[in-house]
Amino acid sequence: MAAPLPDCSRLCIHSITTKPWSLPEIIDGYTRAGVPALTLWRMHYEDNGVIEAAKRLRDSALRVTSLCRGGFFTASSARDREHAKDENRRIIDEAVVLGTNLIVLVCGATPGIPLPEQRRQILDGIAAVLPHAQTAKVRLAIEPLHPMYADSRSAVNTLEQANNMVTALNSDWLGVTIDVYHLWWDPTLKSEIERAGRSLFSFHVSDWRTPTRDILNDRALMGEGCIDIPAIRAWVEHTGFRGDIEVEIFSNTYWEQDQAGFLQRIKQAYLTHV
Ligand code: ZN
Repeated sequence: MAAPLPDCSRLCIHSITTKPWSLPEIIDGYTRAGVPALTLWRMHYEDNGVIEAAKRLRDSALRVTSLCRGGFFTASSARDREHAKDENRRIIDEAVVLGTNLIVLVCGATPGIPLPEQRRQILDGIAAVLPHAQTAKVRLAIEPLHPMYADSRSAVNTLEQANNMVTALNSDWLGVTIDVYHLWWDPTLKSEIERAGRSLFSFHVSDWRTPTRDILNDRALMGEGCIDIPAIRAWVEHTGFRGDIEVEIFSNTYWEQDQAGFLQRIKQAYLTHV
């Protein structure tokens, strides 16, 4: 009997993973590599605008899994917090133009504000934009970030905190993103994934390099680090999740390399270690 063909039908790659490429290069490169889906980072349409990006994507066969990213709700002044809400409403409108129904939220953190107060600001920010999300039929996913980013990127650092926000706001349009890089260390991860259930909206993979040389831009390819990705995937799929599996790698090392070759390594790592 012939070996089954490698199945990449659920493989999605975040455009930031191939950061050196422009959007046209991304569309061409992913298509050539047989990658069926991408999560688009806003930086990749900053220059030419969202309408142009949406047209290019519609003309391709690529699926847009989600838009990265909304959030950043915390601020010292009420005026800045209102500005953040307006910005998130704009991002929801961009998702509609791009034809995706999911936005990942990196919720924000502002040094100097007590963390519990920041979490209240985040909850208030999400509550304020949820009606717009619902009208636009765009789902929002809270992505908890590793505690090393609690200073300036996100005051939401565990899946329990994210699940608590979803419970508090009780909307079909709000859920969570599981990113193995941020959550692999958490002893409550399995039970909190179970608790998320059908509000588990998306799943991000990469690996944790030891030693980590840069806390932002040194993520490893799946299989190069110490995360038991297949175990976490099994917990995620036990909830019924059958969405895309999204490769999100920020890496100075990989960004310096030939991106087409990197895509081939990603595919191989996805088939072997996820
Ligand atoms: Zn992520």
